[in-house]
Amino acid sequence: MEHIQIAIDGPAGAGKSTIAKLLAAKLGFIYIDSGAMYRAVTLKAMKLGVDLEDERAYDFVENTKFTFVDGNLYMDNIDVSKEIRQTAVSNNVSLVSSYYFVRLELVKAQQALAKSHNVVMDGRDIGYQVLPHAKYKFYLTASIAQRAKRRYYDNLERNISSDLNIIEQEIERRDHFDTTREHSPLKAADDAIIIDTSNLSIDQVVSLIEDKVREEENHEF
Ligand code: C5P
Repeated sequence: MEHIQIAIDGPAGAGKSTIAKLLAAKLGFIYIDSGAMYRAVTLKAMKLGVDLEDERAYDFVENTKFTFVDGNLYMDNIDVSKEIRQTAVSNNVSLVSSYYFVRLELVKAQQALAKSHNVVMDGRDIGYQVLPHAKYKFYLTASIAQRAKRRYYDNLERNISSDLNIIEQEIERRDHFDTTREHSPLKAADDAIIIDTSNLSIDQVVSLIEDKVREEENHEF
């Protein structure tokens, strides 16, 4: 049987991961957070003490194992879902994810994860690169102020204290880097449905996507 793939792309703080996680739970699909994988590679590089600016230092990615259990990422069988949210990781992840070799390996790993399950995968290049044949593609956006606020409360929930102004600057910096980088910049697939989530609640966006999928799939889920 063909597996159903739902690709959700968009900038940081547009609500992607919360929405993708809830949607996956409602549909009984597996949730794959591709950003978490880029963060995990960044964390591993930092722990290994490699020169983050040396693209050749990332050959370890080839032998790194990624699994998702209940939306949490395990790298080499260790749950890294909390550690990858550290500010130091956030500050370096755009650089690490700009490297061609890192992307090549992670895209392969993401495609393998999506092969044998119904999945909801979120990221920056899922609809046009990782899963170009996904049956459902969505691109979520929101204003920078709204996105910063969301990330701030997200952090609070994870017991990480942060500063709203700094998050806003960080988001702007990452947006710029992610949309202008040479390899796989952040962009919507030509056939993606664009949803501005600035004035929508998480539940409204989840319902919107869920209704569309259920309708199309004749309510089989
Ligand atoms: O989704 P999240 O904000 O946690 O992603 C962290 C970073 O990983 C992004 O800012 C981006 O640089 C990178 N990323 C990427 N391609 C993806 C997912 C994330 O380059 N598919």
